Amino acid sequence: MGEHLILVYNQQITSEQSALCSLCHSMRRDLLGRIQRIFLLISILLLLVIGLLSAQSAELPWASGLRVGRAQPTPPPRPQVVLISGHKDSDSGAVCTDTANNVTLAEADVTTDVAQRVVASLRGAPYDVEIFAEFDERLNGLRADALVSLHADSCVSYSGYKAAHRDNDPSAADSRLLACLDQHYPGATGLAYHPDTITRDMIDYHAFRKIERSTPAVILEMGFLGGDGPLLTGGADRVAAGIVESIRCFLDETEAS
Ligand SMILES: [Zn+2]
Repeated sequence: MGEHLILVYNQQITSEQSALCSLCHSMRRDLLGRIQRIFLLISILLLLVIGLLSAQSAELPWASGLRVGRAQPTPPPRPQVVLISGHKDSDSGAVCTDTANNVTLAEADVTTDVAQRVVASLRGAPYDVEIFAEFDERLNGLRADALVSLHADSCVSYSGYKAAHRDNDPSAADSRLLACLDQHYPGATGLAYHPDTITRDMIDYHAFRKIERSTPAVILEMGFLGGDGPLLTGGADRVAAGIVESIRCFLDETEAS
């Protein structure tokens, strides 16, 4: 009887141990399964990162927007060109009148027209071009890559253009901008340089005193309203082309230097 009880007891222990072992085994299998899945996930992520970095170093187009740990390069700033539309928002400037004293041609209308044509011609160029009024507040301390002030001379029967930079200690860039105008404006317009009519108002132009000294600047008298009236109105595209070529000449040289 006693032996029988011991046997039953031993059998009970063995079956409990076996149940415990089977639970243990199943838990271990679960744990191993989980570890395997985590390793698989990490491997896939690593492969993805390696693939992306390789694509970026090979400069593949689809990878350019997916920089990992690298800042996007910022584009260089675009050159800023400012045109002063002579007399804009101030007065009419020089005028031509008929025998009844009616104004037939006003300098301010000519400068507005040419400035707008220059802006239209430079649309799409790698520069930002803005038109300022004659006494624009933004001239104070202006930092720009080029400033060209557009004017036309009085209604006399002379013909020719003239341009000037500041008289007071001009910079090398001022001289280069003026040289580009002298190089391109006559060819585009057919106008010759008109000597001896550069006035104090040109070389001591108010804008030269307001802008930053580092801003290359010139004032251009595009022609005489009298002798060059037909060119300044009917041939305004050629006038604008001369200014555009001069600005391009100057900025291309600046970029190359
Ligand atoms: Zn003027």
